[in-house]
Amino acid sequence: CRHGGVEMSAGLTGAQSDAARASGPIVVLAGAGTGKTRTLVAGFVDRIMRRGMRANRILAVTFTNKAAAEMKSRIVEALGSGVAPQWVGTFHAHGRRQLRTDPDIAGLRQGFDVCDAEDSQKIVRRLLEKACAAGVFEVEDSEVFRRRVKSITARIAMLKEELILPDVAAAATEGLIASRKLADPDDIMAWRDAAAVYPAYQALLREANMADFADLLLWPTITMLRDETYRRDWAARFDAVLADEFQDVNRLQFLWLKALSRDHGELFCVGDDAQSIYGWRGANVRIIRNFLKEFPTGRMIALEENFRSTGHILSAANAVIARDPNRLKKELHTAAGDGKPIEIVSWSGSAEEAKGIAAEIGRRALEGVPYSDMAILYRFNFLSRLVEEELLRSKIPYELVNDTAFWQRAVVKDALALLRLSCCPDERQSDEAFRRVVNQPARGIGAKSIARLEQLADDEAVSLFRAAEIWAGSASGKTRERLQAFLSFIRTMEDRAEASENSLSPRIRTLLEDSGYADMHRAAGEDGRAALENLHELLELAQEFADAQDLFDHASLGSASHGEDTFGRVKLMTIHGAKGLEFGHVFLIGWEDTVFPSRNNSDPDEERRLAYVALTRGRRQVSISWCAFRNGRPAEQNCFVDELPEAARHEGWLREVGHNRRFSSGRRSSAAEQNAALGF
Ligand code: ATP
Ligand code: MG
Repeated sequence: CRHGGVEMSAGLTGAQSDAARASGPIVVLAGAGTGKTRTLVAGFVDRIMRRGMRANRILAVTFTNKAAAEMKSRIVEALGSGVAPQWVGTFHAHGRRQLRTDPDIAGLRQGFDVCDAEDSQKIVRRLLEKACAAGVFEVEDSEVFRRRVKSITARIAMLKEELILPDVAAAATEGLIASRKLADPDDIMAWRDAAAVYPAYQALLREANMADFADLLLWPTITMLRDETYRRDWAARFDAVLADEFQDVNRLQFLWLKALSRDHGELFCVGDDAQSIYGWRGANVRIIRNFLKEFPTGRMIALEENFRSTGHILSAANAVIARDPNRLKKELHTAAGDGKPIEIVSWSGSAEEAKGIAAEIGRRALEGVPYSDMAILYRFNFLSRLVEEELLRSKIPYELVNDTAFWQRAVVKDALALLRLSCCPDERQSDEAFRRVVNQPARGIGAKSIARLEQLADDEAVSLFRAAEIWAGSASGKTRERLQAFLSFIRTMEDRAEASENSLSPRIRTLLEDSGYADMHRAAGEDGRAALENLHELLELAQEFADAQDLFDHASLGSASHGEDTFGRVKLMTIHGAKGLEFGHVFLIGWEDTVFPSRNNSDPDEERRLAYVALTRGRRQVSISWCAFRNGRPAEQNCFVDELPEAARHEGWLREVGHNRRFSSGRRSSAAEQNAALGF
């Protein structure tokens, strides 16, 4: 028993085990690393072992694929092999499964596609372009246009998260503007634009048999609220509902959880209001804070011991979060010692930072730290590029753990578009895929030809692919020859897919090779190399999927691991993506005042909570780095660095103390130089 004095059952403290065994509505509201997720897993296991529930009748939900995969493996480990919990996953994955069972509740048909955020933006862009052409919408320049598209797409998702349906969007949005007391005219205009575009956007999705991310939960929830038989049918499938990271649920997710657990009241939630970091996506931290108001018969349980981090890491994290005026006060302590202070390393520029971090990771690996026990976390995805290049150069194995990054690469989307087109060329659902690949490699089909095909497709009420066949069939010329060759190749692939002659991976390979797509990248020499590597990775991944629909689903929601052995790799991810995870050694990069806190966040305290999340991912050692110049702009260390307590920090790499200085690389901060000169 590591923690003397505390009674433990199967590795739990008294408070943890109390929470795991409790019934009815329960919320565990406790700080980072206090074992909330561990308690949730114990609760899952307790409901099976002691209370006799079946594993596949317990619903457990969290936010990222990585966290879901981890939760699932912890449950399987605890239960022993042979038990397969069927309903452990992300909100999106559960919603998708529910919608796949009855797609008609969203006006969709079987086999609908899930479109990702980028696809949603494309649809909005097309609608706005049409509106511009018709003179009902005006935009000054292309950059403004791009931003409008983004902001409208985001707001449509937010309307959906408020359960506002397209037919009432205009009136409901006015209500929303009034109730939130919005004053900024740009903001108000953006909401009104979103409400105006929303119905057409939804109609387009429907016509194309597509659901966006928000739809996955919106329609099941709306239907459960409206149709008691439907709700009962779903609620009856589960004896208990468990939710991790509950501080980040939005109204839609909460109503979904409530509808499913209402009959038996078995709703077990764990979370930490200090880690609420999804306000910008509609997460509502009041839901966790007001849990007992919502469920007067429920219980709120606190946990106070941190089992993850050393004392220095905890005191650094506590110092940062103490300045969040909204947080509920929570006492956190650890039985672990102080450990190593937080290293604060500064660099002249981002290239030096990348080199320095890669070198340090290499040194720690030599000292016996497994790569998999190290992670690099950043505020924004763009910060990872240089580090990635440097890790590649240093031959340090790494994995980008970003839920969707791989699947959003253009080459991967192109390859999936070829596959989609070969699955059902006659469906309008494949139009987007057609637009993507018809002129890759160049077949002389420019914007003008596409516009003609769009017109023809609308007139004839056929897919773009079919329209292209009609057009190409009736004429000659080199362009048409090339187009025809492409079209008939896709038809051949369609026939073969129907005859199930090929499993998925060879099928994609043929599509890439025989369409000339792979050669197009080969011809690009050095530039095409990364593309070919990604395609290669896709072919490997595809082996794990039974059919194309599985792969499309997986691609649209992202995946936890890319199928390979991810053990033995340094993990790279955003702070958002690292929520709930932990690593022995954590490198936090880009802690400059120009990057983090982000000025684009309308809630500055949310940036602070992000810093708290970042720091509390570390078990043994946390290193923070910042650059005096990034992208040619001068910067200073950010306010969070300033706030770290003196005793818990060290300027420069710890190894640079004393005789280890000869290992130093890159530029250190002047403070570090002074320390070194003074013999610290
Ligand atoms: P976060 O807020 O970051 O999600 P959390 O509260 O969910 O953190 P966990 O991830 O469940 O915390 O636990 C943090 C670490 O502490 C894990 O390594 C876990 O195994 C360990 N831990 C939790 N409870 C105990 C315990 N009673 N005894 C030993 N180790 C524990
Ligand atoms: Mg957790």
